[in-house]
Amino acid sequence: NFRCRSAFKLLEIDDKFRLLQPGYTVVDCGAAPGAWSQVAVQRVNSGVTDPELPRGMVVGIDLLNIPPLDGAHFLSNCDVTDPATHAKLLELLPHGKAHVILSDMAPNASGFREMDHEKLITMCLSLIDLAEKILQPQGSLLCKYWDGILAHKLQETLSSVFSSVRTLKPDSSRKDSAERYFLARMYRRPIK
Ligand code: SAM
Repeated sequence: NFRCRSAFKLLEIDDKFRLLQPGYTVVDCGAAPGAWSQVAVQRVNSGVTDPELPRGMVVGIDLLNIPPLDGAHFLSNCDVTDPATHAKLLELLPHGKAHVILSDMAPNASGFREMDHEKLITMCLSLIDLAEKILQPQGSLLCKYWDGILAHKLQETLSSVFSSVRTLKPDSSRKDSAERYFLARMYRRPIK
């Protein structure tokens, strides 16, 4: 029983790309009400449903309250783009590192498509700053965006720090929505 239908999008993506392995540490951005975290807990074995497999960790973050879930740590009422949240994460994560960053974040839609698109792209770009602080080398980032003129810019920026970047439109995502996901894999540190 998932808290929200969005779970099926992550299940579909993970069945295909095997992002979430037992033992992995996952940060779920925009986690409320917690359906993606439910999927992540199962897949990384952070609730230890299989004692034979390595135990992973799931940390969910949201501006809203996230109801408790076995196997997950939640940072409720926290802004993913706030450096204070990054500091909390660094304390929580083993060695301060995660294997995977997930983001299903979305701003409150204003109804103005271009404006909502730009807001969400800005939020996605901030995930690249977060990655620099907490993502393991070779780690992955999966982020939702709304398609539009700046998608290209986000893709380019992701490609500058990830070796592989692709666009996904899961079958379980409504055909008539602008919703897409970037799957960025094989993180490498930015060259400075
Ligand atoms: N993946 C979730 C699930 O499966 O239950 C659904 C996520 S919902 C589509 C988007 C969430 O992003 C909202 O709960 C919203 O509060 C959150 N959000 C938006 N901006 C945020 C921010 N700056 N920091 C943290 N969460 C944010």
